[in-house]
Amino acid sequence: MDEEPERAKRWEGGYERTWEVLKEDESGSLKASVEEILFQSKRKRVIESHGRVRLGMMRHLFVVVDCSRSMEDQDLKPTRLASTLKLLEKFVEEYFDQNPISQVGIITTKNKRAEKLTELAGNPSKHVSALRKAADAVCLGEPSLFNALSLAANTLKHMPSHTSREVLVVMSSLTTCDPANIYELIKTLKSLRVRVSVIGLSAEVRVCTVLTRETGGSYHVILDESHFKELLLLHVKPPPSSSAADCSLIRMGFPQHIMVSASDQDAKPSFSMAHLESSSSSGPGSGSGPGPGLGLSLGGYFCPQCHGKYTELPVECKVCGLTLVSAPHLARSFHHLFPLEAFTEKPLEEHKGERFCEACQGELRDKRVFQCSLCAGVFCVECDVFIHDNLHCCPRCIHTQSAT
Ligand SMILES: [Zn+2]
Ligand SMILES: [Zn+2]
Ligand SMILES: [Zn+2]
Repeated sequence: MDEEPERAKRWEGGYERTWEVLKEDESGSLKASVEEILFQSKRKRVIESHGRVRLGMMRHLFVVVDCSRSMEDQDLKPTRLASTLKLLEKFVEEYFDQNPISQVGIITTKNKRAEKLTELAGNPSKHVSALRKAADAVCLGEPSLFNALSLAANTLKHMPSHTSREVLVVMSSLTTCDPANIYELIKTLKSLRVRVSVIGLSAEVRVCTVLTRETGGSYHVILDESHFKELLLLHVKPPPSSSAADCSLIRMGFPQHIMVSASDQDAKPSFSMAHLESSSSSGPGSGSGPGPGLGLSLGGYFCPQCHGKYTELPVECKVCGLTLVSAPHLARSFHHLFPLEAFTEKPLEEHKGERFCEACQGELRDKRVFQCSLCAGVFCVECDVFIHDNLHCCPRCIHTQSAT
């Protein structure tokens, strides 16, 4: 334990000593200082998200869910498992909203084993329905961090080197049952450039500290459910890509969806390339069985290079390796590369002119306002956060551009 680097624990910082910040004003009211704290907490997120770093835009992330006995604990309501799966549903939706050309897979671990709930795929609805089904599963035995990580690594190591390889572990148990030395596995993960992050539901565990430190991930232990949600959402934003990651121009194909009507005499149903592989890997007798799910269908997206057919995007062409995306997908990732510059913060007294927010038209009540450096529009703190988190463009700049 000696070589542990000095760092502040979660419970040593953050909300600690808020009572020392609180100061009464002349009338004995705490309102002003409480407002200041609230203001700072709102403001913080915008500042943190800005900085010019290389981001891993194409992400491959495995979420490992501990389904061991300890997930039956009821400190999160109704149980840790139910609460975790619910939050993960939100996470998956948010993830694909912010990372449309990325993929997610889900791994569960219980009873000393690990298994894939879903393969890496870019389709959120598939993961969400798998998560809903998993809520009925029984929590059993001990988790196996080793088995879960090696299962993830076995898939991730085949991912192209210009994409990110990530694992996010939601760990409830304080113990893990490993068939081999996990420190060897951590070395392997490090050499494969797999970044592992852990969210602990119980307490800090030594092996996770080492795991995340060595692989460059983050490690947090939750305080309560809302903190859990906050921690999960931290993993939605693309991480800075490691400097060792290959940097390459990527050829992309933008296939259009071709519809064929069933009444067309010449129409021949065909298999989707993506379905062929997934049905062979899951083996006979498992899964959906014959039916429309197996991919014999009319129409679809056709690879512009080799005419391989796919029913969903984004996907890497199994035949020629071309990355196939739809143009709107790419446009939605764009704002991560060219983020809207942070607005300048200035005291309300210095602001001359209308005391109304340019976005919501509400009266500017906070002590500070935010100004766009391009159009000099002034916004309230709520709108500032909304503009930077959701809109990704200044509404006033857009308005003046379209007016001219
Ligand atoms: Zn192709
Ligand atoms: Zn506003
Ligand atoms: Zn502007």
